Amino acid sequence: MPTTRRQFIHDVALGTTAFGMGLPLLPKTKDRLGVALVGLGYYSRDLLAPALQLTKSCYLAGIVTGNSQKADEWMKKYKIPAKNVYNYQNFDELAKNPDIDVVYVVLPNHLHREYTERAARAGKHVWCEKPMAPTAADCEAMIKVCKDNKVSLSIGYRMQHEPNTQELIRFGRQKTYGKVKMLTASAGFVAGDSISQAWRGKQSMGGGALFDMGVYSLNAARYAIGEEPVAVSAQKFTTRPAVFKEVDETTLFTLEFPGGAVAQCSTSLGINMNTLHVTAEKGWYRLEPFQSYNGIMGSTSDGKLLNIKTENQQALQMDNDSKAIMAGKAPLVPGEEGWKDIKVVEAIFKSVALEGKRISI
Ligand code: NAD
Repeated sequence: MPTTRRQFIHDVALGTTAFGMGLPLLPKTKDRLGVALVGLGYYSRDLLAPALQLTKSCYLAGIVTGNSQKADEWMKKYKIPAKNVYNYQNFDELAKNPDIDVVYVVLPNHLHREYTERAARAGKHVWCEKPMAPTAADCEAMIKVCKDNKVSLSIGYRMQHEPNTQELIRFGRQKTYGKVKMLTASAGFVAGDSISQAWRGKQSMGGGALFDMGVYSLNAARYAIGEEPVAVSAQKFTTRPAVFKEVDETTLFTLEFPGGAVAQCSTSLGINMNTLHVTAEKGWYRLEPFQSYNGIMGSTSDGKLLNIKTENQQALQMDNDSKAIMAGKAPLVPGEEGWKDIKVVEAIFKSVALEGKRISI
């Protein structure tokens, strides 16, 4: 990546070069990173693999799957050579494969930690899907293993790469409408009853509304307000007890921020909702939808339209993360960002267990 001398000196000063972060610089000859997708379920199949056909700074170089029929289909469809196809047993042999620079963990949530750590120990940079992991201790361990192995770790919070969302974040940082006072964030969809049989319906696999969709509301509250919450009170509700036996169907949580702002957040696997509305001292601004794969749009109290088009969110995210790795810079959404959310998620669960008691974070 071309880096001017002045930019390099600036980056060293900020500690954001490969040198500063302790990351190895890639050989100068690489202008695109090879990505291996781990777990070829819905998100890999329908969103990430198609997006990797549009990316300019990375490409789909390999796959990890436990299903040999799927492996054959993907090899044909995406022209992936057999030497870049792994299963969960021989995964660690990735260490010897120079075609793979990044491992993208797209597995059920309870497996994020294991495969992030194995990838890091194999010397590969890691992109890990949200939510980062079931516990804050898991997240902390993942960050440490990536640091110890000098690889970059990024969490798949695609909204932080999305330009309308970035505009909303700027309004907060620059106090365009004054200080943020309140916000509401709602993220949910109606899951079919079959969820009870899938990993999203199982507590031991990191299922439930809060882990699946609630982290969008929570992450939005944190990026829109730009502070870390200091307390939370939360409640959960279930309208289909036979389906949601182990995990939450709907969770409502109120976050208190140190500057006085309050966020009313909701998440559900029984209600379609997708709104972020920020109330500030001198006006309001909102995005609806705020977390869909496309068509993010919104408006402001003074009549501005937020409607910047993005061709493909996942391609934008993966290109941004690839460029950061090639430049030896910290990713836009590092592991710490996932960890901060999971610390709050743990406090939310604690409050729910205590029937809405206010929990300090
Ligand atoms: P999925 O169930 O469709 O796919 C999971 C894949 O993992 C399957 O191919 C399955 O075979 C494989 N797998 C390997 N070991 C497994 C095990 N022990 N148990 C169950 N499955 C196993 O799930 P998905 O919707 O693709 O979600 C995967 C991850 O991606 C999750 O962390 C989810 O939160 C995340 N995701 C993110 C977004 C986003 O917009 N960023 C969207 C959807 C999903």
